[in-house]
Amino acid sequence: MIEKNQDFEVNIMDLGYEGEGVTKINGYTTFVKGALKDEKVKVKMVKVNKDYGFAKLLEIIKKSKNREEPVCEKYGRCGGCSLQHMSYEAQLDYKTEMVKNTLKKSLGYEPLVNDIIGMGIPYHYRNKAQYPVVGEKIGFYADRSHELIENKECYIQNQLTDKLAKDAFQIAKKYSVTSYDEKTNKGILRHIVTRIGLNSGEFMIMFVTNGEEFKSKEKIVRELTMMYPDITSIIQNVNTQNTNVILGEKCITLYGEDCIVDKLGDYKFKISPLSFYQVNPVQTEVLYNVAKEYAALDGNETVFDLYSGIGTISIFIAENAKRVYGVEVVEPAVEDAKENAAMNEIRNVEFIAGEAEKVVPQMYQDGIKADVVFVDPPRKGCDEKLLQTIIDMKAKKVIYISCNPATLARDLKVLTENHYEIQVVQPVDMFPQTKHVEDVCLLTLK
Ligand code: SAH
Repeated sequence: MIEKNQDFEVNIMDLGYEGEGVTKINGYTTFVKGALKDEKVKVKMVKVNKDYGFAKLLEIIKKSKNREEPVCEKYGRCGGCSLQHMSYEAQLDYKTEMVKNTLKKSLGYEPLVNDIIGMGIPYHYRNKAQYPVVGEKIGFYADRSHELIENKECYIQNQLTDKLAKDAFQIAKKYSVTSYDEKTNKGILRHIVTRIGLNSGEFMIMFVTNGEEFKSKEKIVRELTMMYPDITSIIQNVNTQNTNVILGEKCITLYGEDCIVDKLGDYKFKISPLSFYQVNPVQTEVLYNVAKEYAALDGNETVFDLYSGIGTISIFIAENAKRVYGVEVVEPAVEDAKENAAMNEIRNVEFIAGEAEKVVPQMYQDGIKADVVFVDPPRKGCDEKLLQTIIDMKAKKVIYISCNPATLARDLKVLTENHYEIQVVQPVDMFPQTKHVEDVCLLTLK
């Protein structure tokens, strides 16, 4: 019988879906955060469930050759990164294996999965940061909690905007702007959000406030622009909802432009505060090039780009297609997509606002069919109605871009049971130091 607070010496056999070590204690599966495969460690049981438990790492008796000293002093406490104790090579191997295992479990066989494409310099890659503020502190939440962890420097964020957010918070505090308290729903400043176009250098800061009142905003803007004279845009975003959703719908431009522009490949993209834009632009180009190569368009195809965001994929592939339809639910993103097509002088694309699972069945009913479909859904994956419509219209190729192997595996099972065949899966490391993995999968009609 295994009980809480018991100590054990164990060998770590594997890594779980969160990068945590996995062991068996007398056959009982136990997860050990921070332990690596092939290590011998001393642990204390902290949670004992019916089928599995969690133990705390007390001591490393035999160290893995893949172990590395984390660069961040808050590593292990901040909820942002979970693989910094692994060498980057080991992180990449882990992710490839994780994708293979997840797909095999769902499909019953292992499709062709290429080795993940890693990043040259796997730090400071993020172009967007959302910092909660709590009381006197700005930082990131701890894992699975709203405890705020402060940090001098974040090693995955862009360095300029990381400093900008912290400086902006100090200025706001100086003018007595109160921090929001989620328990009482009182206080003004909820989050500070930053975005930067890594290829253009344009950057934005957003103050997310609990209501339109934002005392001393003129003075705050003045100080901030003196400190950062090159800043492109300062926005106030109003969010009065008592939820975990960070941004509200209303944006007020306090200084400069309403949005920033970034470049990807040969194209320019306008990014509004509320629009989705991939967070790692270096790897986004890699990802899109893989997707484009898999599509191998010859110029005669009708293409659907579903979950199209600000139209990046549509625009990337338009010159190789006859006609492209982008479908996206967030209206400001659709507006950005239309302007982006015009800005890049692309005329064979059309963007439609709405839910893909409603818009695409309607298009199919109206006689518009795709030869090639790109889907790039959020973490929850594709709606079943959408998958069914893709199956019904017999699109020759489906290129599935996914940020969640679990829902990718679920959706691939549906497609492979309905006339589609997986040709290849290519993982791309968009999120170094974290457990997240992106995949591109090519499916063809049998
Ligand atoms: N392809 C884009 C965006 C991918 S992120 C890119 O590479 O940048 C996923 C996008 O799906 C987001 O823009 C989100 O707003 C949108 N989305 C979420 N649910 C949707 C739905 N049901 N129908 C259409 N779009 C949706």
